[in-house]
Amino acid sequence: MTDLDKTYDVAVIGGGLAGVSAARDLRDRGHSVVLLEGSDRLGGRIFARPFKGLPDVSVDFGGTWVNTSMQPLIRNEISRYGIALKEDSDPGCSAFHTGGVLRSVPIPAREIPDLQRALTRLRDASLRFTPGHAVTSVPVRDLDISVDDFFAPLDLPAATRDLLDAMVVVYGGWNPGALSVFSFLSQVAALGNEPDAFYGALTERFVGGLHVLLEAMVADSGVEVLFRHRAVAVERGTTGLTVRADNGVALDARECIVAVPSNVIRHIDFMPSLSLGKVKMVAENHMSRAIKCAIRVRNLAPRPFAMGSRGFHMICSGKELGDGTEIVYGFSSEYHMDFDPRDRERVQDWVREYFPSAEVVEVDFHDFGADPLLDGTYRIDRPGEAFEFLTVMNEPEDRIVFAGTDVDDSVWRTWMEGALSSSRKAVGVVTENLHRHTA
Ligand SMILES: Cc1cc2nc3c(=O)[nH]c(=O)nc-3n(C[C@H](O)[C@H](O)[C@H](O)COP(=O)(O)OP(=O)(O)OC[C@H]3O[C@@H](n4cnc5c(N)ncnc54)[C@H](O)[C@@H]3O)c2cc1C
Repeated sequence: MTDLDKTYDVAVIGGGLAGVSAARDLRDRGHSVVLLEGSDRLGGRIFARPFKGLPDVSVDFGGTWVNTSMQPLIRNEISRYGIALKEDSDPGCSAFHTGGVLRSVPIPAREIPDLQRALTRLRDASLRFTPGHAVTSVPVRDLDISVDDFFAPLDLPAATRDLLDAMVVVYGGWNPGALSVFSFLSQVAALGNEPDAFYGALTERFVGGLHVLLEAMVADSGVEVLFRHRAVAVERGTTGLTVRADNGVALDARECIVAVPSNVIRHIDFMPSLSLGKVKMVAENHMSRAIKCAIRVRNLAPRPFAMGSRGFHMICSGKELGDGTEIVYGFSSEYHMDFDPRDRERVQDWVREYFPSAEVVEVDFHDFGADPLLDGTYRIDRPGEAFEFLTVMNEPEDRIVFAGTDVDDSVWRTWMEGALSSSRKAVGVVTENLHRHTA
């Protein structure tokens, strides 16, 4: 039961991984915390639910893979709650569509030196980031250029470029010419400066889906969660602030963590207004509109893997069902304007571009872009925007701290590890503010 007359130490807006972990950590430190979540579930861009027509088969439609040896914050959470993980098995069959040719290897042998040149360029640029330090604390602003501009000096041949572009679209969710290479490079740094680890390093998943972790965090801390409370206004005064929800509820708090996707920050009315820099940075959406389809297939060797320039830029195994069918994930982007991920026939055509004998039994999909509380997938910036965005969003703002993977200035930004990293930082700032304001 919410005590409307009470002044909470902290109001947290947004019940994704960042918001939940921040609320939990503040409770652990003895603070009173209320968490407002606009929808009726926790997790935001983490979303596990049964596959269409298969009530016992849970599928992760959003965040899925982790690497516990490279991601210390995820590793801590997993061991704290004793959560079981499953390691992906190697693919049972592979197909690549690069340079206009369907092939069983990523590129023709004659292009191997070109691919090596491209990987070396990625690696060398990634060495300029320093994992463990904010990406904006090192002089890397000149790397905030488009993916096209980054590779242009190499004059890469078609198949190599198709392979690299497929990696970019899967991760970036849009056309490589329109995306900054900055986040890709920081991630190569996170992956030990190994660009080829980009798609082979995150191979562990949560048994039973990722919501297991979020539920454990809330149960453990006793954080008060208010579902269907969409924050619409944050009014700051001299001694505290009031958060107003769309259902008329108003809650008083001393400090506030805003842990919502960057695309929806502008729908909250901040009074007084946020700094001009922040207002400018959240005025329009970032570029990424990724699509992740869950596809039940048959007539396909187990655990397929595909990558290339066709409609799906990557296909990988989801879950073997043991009845001759398997759920696979197909990754694409809304920039293929004419594609409807719910259209079984169309999805089948796209799968057959890599695996001609495959039969698609059913397709399922969660439209993160159509969800007004998320409005997109993971933040990828326009060229020239990434460094500025991270700098500005992490600047102090009286009584308000932003959190969430979109604003995380570690090398793990965009991933779940980034959500945890941003939350840890926000908790540190808020704890300091609470001490300062009560001193
Ligand atoms: C398709 C897809 C695949 C992914 N795959 C991976 C992967 O394999 N591995 C990995 O590490 N990461 C992956 N990610 C990224 C990962 O899911 C995110 O990094 C992480 O979930 C972000 O957490 P967050 O707390 O920052 O934000 P979110 O999860 O977006 O949480 C924000 C919350 O705020 C709520 N909200 C919004 N506005 C308001 C408001 N006004 N008032 C109250 N509540 C509000 C939303 O409903 C939401 O619950 C994937 C993401 C997607 C979309």
